[in-house]
Order: sequence, then C-alpha cells, then structure tokens
Amino acid sequence: MRREEMLRRIRERAQRNEPWDIAVIGGGATGMGVAVDAAARGFQAVLLEAHDFGKGTSSRSTKLVHGGVRYLEQGNIPLVMSALKERGLLRQNAPHLVKDLAFVVPNYSWWEAPFYGIGLKLYDLLAGKYGFGASKLLTKEETLQRLPALEPEELRGGVVYYDGQFDDSRLLIHLAMTAADQGATVINYCPATGLLRDDEGYVNGLIARDDESGEAFSIKAKIVINATGVFTDQIRRMADPATEPLMVTSQGIHLVFDRSFLKGDTALMVPRTSDGRVLFVIPWHGHAVAGTTDTPVDGPSLEPKPLDEEIQFILETAGRYLTRPPSRSDVLAVYVGLRPLVKSGGASSTSAISRDHTIHVDTSGLLTITGGKWTTYRHMAEDTVDHAITLGRLRDETCVTKNLRIHGYAEPPADRNGDEDPLEVYGSDSAEIRSIAEQNPDLAKPLHPALPYIGAEVVWAARAEMARTVEDVLSRRTRALFLNAHAAMQMAEPVAKLLAQELHHDDAWVAAQLQEFSALAKQYTV
Ligand SMILES: Cc1cc2nc3c(=O)[nH]c(=O)nc-3n(C[C@H](O)[C@H](O)[C@H](O)COP(=O)(O)OP(=O)(O)OC[C@H]3O[C@@H](n4cnc5c(N)ncnc54)[C@H](O)[C@@H]3O)c2cc1C
Repeated sequence: MRREEMLRRIRERAQRNEPWDIAVIGGGATGMGVAVDAAARGFQAVLLEAHDFGKGTSSRSTKLVHGGVRYLEQGNIPLVMSALKERGLLRQNAPHLVKDLAFVVPNYSWWEAPFYGIGLKLYDLLAGKYGFGASKLLTKEETLQRLPALEPEELRGGVVYYDGQFDDSRLLIHLAMTAADQGATVINYCPATGLLRDDEGYVNGLIARDDESGEAFSIKAKIVINATGVFTDQIRRMADPATEPLMVTSQGIHLVFDRSFLKGDTALMVPRTSDGRVLFVIPWHGHAVAGTTDTPVDGPSLEPKPLDEEIQFILETAGRYLTRPPSRSDVLAVYVGLRPLVKSGGASSTSAISRDHTIHVDTSGLLTITGGKWTTYRHMAEDTVDHAITLGRLRDETCVTKNLRIHGYAEPPADRNGDEDPLEVYGSDSAEIRSIAEQNPDLAKPLHPALPYIGAEVVWAARAEMARTVEDVLSRRTRALFLNAHAAMQMAEPVAKLLAQELHHDDAWVAAQLQEFSALAKQYTV
C-alpha cells in the first residue's frame, strides 16, 4: 500500500478520462468496507479519505465487536441477530484482531440475576452457530474471582456472558490493505471537494485534492458513494445545497486508566447507569477503558472535545463499582467519538435512535450509506454495493466477503497464557516487523517505558501502512495516544525522526510535526 502508487493510478485514469466503477468518499469502517466489497467483486474502485484512514469515529469506538445487549433490551431483535452473525464472521476472518472477551454484569439487587440471566440466555440463543460461549449465573465468590476489583459490599452475584473485542483502527488499516490486495485504490489526505454532474444533472464523479501537493483531480465514476459518517450532509449538500439534513450527531467519550483499576481479564458491564445507558470497563492493550456517554452535539468535527460533565459522569459511575474509584489524576487518556445517527422523528434522546444502517439515494444519484455499527460494516458494505450495482448499472457480481480473510489473517497462538504479544495485532505482517528490528537492534527497543511500541513499527507504518504523520503513527497505527497521552507526547520526537528518514523530510518538517502533535495530544489529557 504505497501512496505514490495510489496517486499515480488516480492521475493516469483521470488523464484517460476513464470512469471508475465505484468511487467512495470516506475512509472509515463504512467506506473501507465498501471498497473491500467492491474490489473483491472485481469492480474498479477508488476510495478517498480527507484526513487519515480512521481519523473519524472508526478509531474512537468502545472496541467491541458485539450484538449489543442494549439493543436487545430495546427489543431490536433483527439488529442484534444481524450483528451477532457479523461478530462471528469477523472473528472468523480476522482472528488476529478480534478476540473473545468475558463480560460480567454484577448483581446488587435480587431481581438482577433472573432478569439479566434470562436476557443473556436469549442473547446466546440469537447468536446460534455464531455463538462465543454460553452465559451463566455466578455466585458472589465467582463474580469476585473474575472481577477482583469489583466493589463487594451488597454484591449478590453476577452473570457472565461473552462478546468480541477488537482494535478498531488496526482493523481499519488491515481493511485498507485488504482493499489494496484486492486491487482497490485507496488514498488518505485526499478530500473530495466537489461533485461532477452529467448533462442531466446526475452525479458522475467528484473533484479531489491531494493535500500533500495541492494537485487537484477530476475523478469520473459510474457511481459515487458517500460514506462520510457525521460529515454525510456536507457531501449531500455538494450535490444539492438545499437538501434536508439526514443526520444528527451525539458524542461518546472514553477514559483510559492503568490496568490495576480492573484486575483480571474480564470486562465489567453496567447495564443501566443513572442516565439509562450502558457503561463498560474493559481490559484493552494492558489498560482499562471506561465508557461511554451519549451527548447530543451540534455538528461534525474531526477532533471533538470531552465535556467536563462527561468525564465526571464516567469517573463517578465507574467509581461506584470499583474498589479503588479512579480520579481525574488517574486518567491516562480521554478520547471522544461522534455517532453518525440518522434522524428519527419520535426518538426522545440520541441513545434511543436506532443503530441500524440507512442507504439513501438523492435525486442526483448520490448514494449515501450511514448509521450502523463497526460490527456490521461488512453487511452494510454488501447492502451498499448491491444498491450501487442497480443504480450504476454495473455488472451483477455476487458479494464474496463472508469468507474473505482480512489482511494479516493469522490464528492466535494456542499457547498464549494471558499476556498479549504486542505484535499480534499485525497478524502475519508481524514477521516483517521482527525482521526490521533484527536488521537494526535500535529499532527493537521500546520507544517509551510505559508502552510496548518499538521503532520497527514506525518504519513499517511508513513503508507499508501509508502513515504520513506522527499522529498517524501514534493514534491509529499504534494506539499510544489513546492509551497514554503523556507517554505519546514523549514518543513524538523519535517517531518524527524515524518518519522523516523513511519519507525523506527535513528538520523543519520534524519541528512542525512535533508542534502539531503536542497541540493535539493535550486534548487527550484531562
Ligand atoms: C463513542 C462510540 C463508541 C462506539 N463503540 C462501538 C463499538 O464498540 N462497537 C461497534 O460496533 N460500533 C461502535 N460504535 C459505532 C462505530 O464506531 C461507527 O458506527 C463507525 O465507526 C462509523 O464509521 P463511518 O465510516 O461511518 O464513519 P467515520 O469513521 O467517521 O468515517 C468517515 C470518514 O469520512 C471522512 N470524510 C469526511 N469528509 C470527507 C471528504 N470531503 N472527502 C473524503 N473523506 C471525508 C472523514 O475524515 C472520516 O474519516 C461507536 C461509536 C461511538 C461514537
């Protein structure tokens, strides 16, 4: 996956004035899923991302590949069933990135064991052959064995159930590589700045700009797909400035703590917080992640900011269930994501709006795919490309992604005993990173004592994963910024120097990168 090669393909096709079958705007889970699906069916597909792949919501999730116990409570059985099936397919196709995780719902009232016990049995049942493990009731002692950090006072017992956990931006990068392996052209830092129309007013392409060089392209396509998440209406307005908005936005924050706040390998699930939501505290890459909130916000932004009351809410709610309640000074990082929600007339709050996906076709022929969940990205893509075939009069090709292995596919080692190998998220590519480290032992050393990341990962990110900036490496190729913002700031200089070497930049570039990253990283501290 080399950026220069991607640009060359876009430029040459533009010069030939030859249309792509499918052009996708937006390089999050939704758009990248579409690029994988389209390319795997044999279509000529191009995907443009305005910033870096996964810069939007798709790197800021709760890291769950799940059916959504909450949607079960809302009675949305079809959504839960479809998500549970996708959960199973994703574990099958990307076992290096999707893991089974045990969750415990602690019971402090008499009615909780039967209520959640039966609900979670139904969850098991809906998963059918895609099940991850049977839920069961736990005694107080068993509950504390699994969650030693849980508040024991008035605890009666718990229910354990199983769901999936993943690394969202790592999966996204491997989806980009899968798309590229299948022949798609995918490019970051290349926003769509306008749409092209034919004589009858139908969208037949787009205008894009390479933000690194300023070069502009006219990209003709039989069908243009808008997969821009919370930015959906901005693209729709390019086709029709008077169009009615489709989207509402709500934000969710997560706080990251040292793992000692959640001992053991089990996640804590609080099914009903004081605002009627679900709160998770999850072990992730050697840390504990707590979230999330659901706060309506005005419009889209690439770097949404946490509200003080959201931070306070998570600290208080998590603190109620943990023997050592975390305080602000314990927060290693805070990250914020925006939900792309499709407007729903009757919903009383954003948390009540359905998480189903929506496909919308504007009168201009622009096809929009939005809503949904990370977990269901494959199904959303299948549905979208099916619509694109009809709308763009493409040849009728069948979807092949149900059994398509995702780049890096590798079975996790059978003898793993608890501790994660830090390179496991690269799957089969980890051998290449080890080989870079072997050739230069300096690149085998951790870049910071608090995190496992080594220099060889930076070199690999630049050479093979299209990382262009310090932020790309520390936010989405590694997860340093999301795990420990201060440590990430201290890693920025060696990362910038390694990138400068790989990408042939000078000292002025290094200095500018350090300034930009430090301003960004401050927003991830509390
Ligand atoms: C707090 C939170 C927690 C969540 N947790 C989970 C979870 O645990 N499990 C789960 O399954 N789902 C979860 N979700 C939902 C899931 O993360 C989202 O549904 C999914 O990431 C949306 O992906 P997307 O590609 O539609 O949007 P995005 O990831 O936002 O991608 C849209 C992209 O479009 C790009 N773009 C915008 N304008 C342009 C332009 N002009 N040209 C080119 N590109 C452009 C943006 O830069 C962006 O990268 C969560 C969501 C939130 C907010």
